[in-house]
Amino acid sequence: MSTLIRGGTVVNATGAVAADVLVQGEKIAALVAPGFEVQADTVIDATGKYVIPGGIDGHTHMEMPFGGTSSVDTFETGTIAAAWGGTTTIVDFAVQAKGTSLLSTLDKWHSKADGNCAIDYGFHMIVSDVNDTSLKEMESCIDAGVNTFKMFMAYPGVFYATDGEILRAMQKARETGATIMMHAENGIAIDQLVAQAIANGDTDPVQHALTRPPELEGEATSRAIALAKVTGAPLYIVHLSAAQALDAVTKARDTGQNVFAETCPQYLYLSIEDLAKPDFEGSKYVASPPLRPKEHQGELWRGLRTNDLSLVSTDHCPFCFKDQKELGRGDFSKIPNGIPGVEHRIDLLHQGVVRGELTVERWVEISSTTPARMFGLYPRKGVIAPGADADVVVYDPMARQTLSVETHHMNVDYSAYEGMELTGKVSTVLSRGKVVVDDDGFHGGAGHGRFLGRDLNQYLV
Ligand SMILES: [Zn+2]
Repeated sequence: MSTLIRGGTVVNATGAVAADVLVQGEKIAALVAPGFEVQADTVIDATGKYVIPGGIDGHTHMEMPFGGTSSVDTFETGTIAAAWGGTTTIVDFAVQAKGTSLLSTLDKWHSKADGNCAIDYGFHMIVSDVNDTSLKEMESCIDAGVNTFKMFMAYPGVFYATDGEILRAMQKARETGATIMMHAENGIAIDQLVAQAIANGDTDPVQHALTRPPELEGEATSRAIALAKVTGAPLYIVHLSAAQALDAVTKARDTGQNVFAETCPQYLYLSIEDLAKPDFEGSKYVASPPLRPKEHQGELWRGLRTNDLSLVSTDHCPFCFKDQKELGRGDFSKIPNGIPGVEHRIDLLHQGVVRGELTVERWVEISSTTPARMFGLYPRKGVIAPGADADVVVYDPMARQTLSVETHHMNVDYSAYEGMELTGKVSTVLSRGKVVVDDDGFHGGAGHGRFLGRDLNQYLV
């Protein structure tokens, strides 16, 4: 079975070129100069469109337990929504519950995801119980294709790790080549501010941001960088939202330290003003770190241009407004944390191209190529090149669309971007050679997606 994607502009991180793309089976077989005759079973017309490597979302939470409830996208609904938006790989977080082992956690996440994903997927591991057994088990996780370990400086009593525990895990990372991913917010100080706000009767969703000031993200980021420096471990800051944290990352990178950071579309487009919306609407925008005042956004775009921010993931973690976000009415600290977004990352980042914030190549780099290298998937993923998996998106840069809960495919009852008008839209999506989305709709299905055992971070020398 062969497919020719004809007449488009192939955009890789390294440049754009007019070329046809020949797909055979699950792989890209060749890039062909326009005008050369090539036989194929099927032809997709990409005239006037970009042909880009499928998006890789390195930060999702499908079916994630949180405070007695669970994020509402299953691996099936979440990966279908991802495919609609041009994302063909996710890396989701397996969550170690305190008192359980990393390997049983991995088994549990396999049993949720295997056979249920519409696109390819891998796992990171959240380490919430640092002890001799967990540290030893990190080695087995790496052998099983999971070599990125997330820790939390926030959420005392739940996921929180002490500096000493972080240090020990980083020493193991240094020894094994693994990367430590960090949720960098000073949770000990934040918990005091939260308790004080509640005691004062300040219970609205906007308090979520006011009790988690950007300085406490900056401080935790600096502390994580110092611990990484002392141990020699590679460090990846997840969902960076604040200029203060970006400053710390920029300084560390300027010294050559292996420090990387992602941001998320919500921090580029939404702000504390959304959290302040009346009638509990603000709860739709509760995630941690919180949405910031608008002036942080320009800094984040700057970081994306200068590569101090390496890539963009969604932190997709959908909770319904009804019944789930409702749990925090009258107490903002009980609002489930998370914003849905896995479907919209490629489109939202394309607005950066439209607005002149990013080149088209940088758009591809931060949404696909860098995640592929960061999470050990390149050149199987993240590039349109012979031998790569045929995860290919035909993207119409001129199409117009309006984001809405009425039209999105995520299994959640609101859109954080309701009514936002965008330029650019996915036309066709191939996942390992199979057309899963086109003008006629969705043609994929649960079970098409395969588990990806990943190599180590490819930015490390
Ligand atoms: Zn997350």
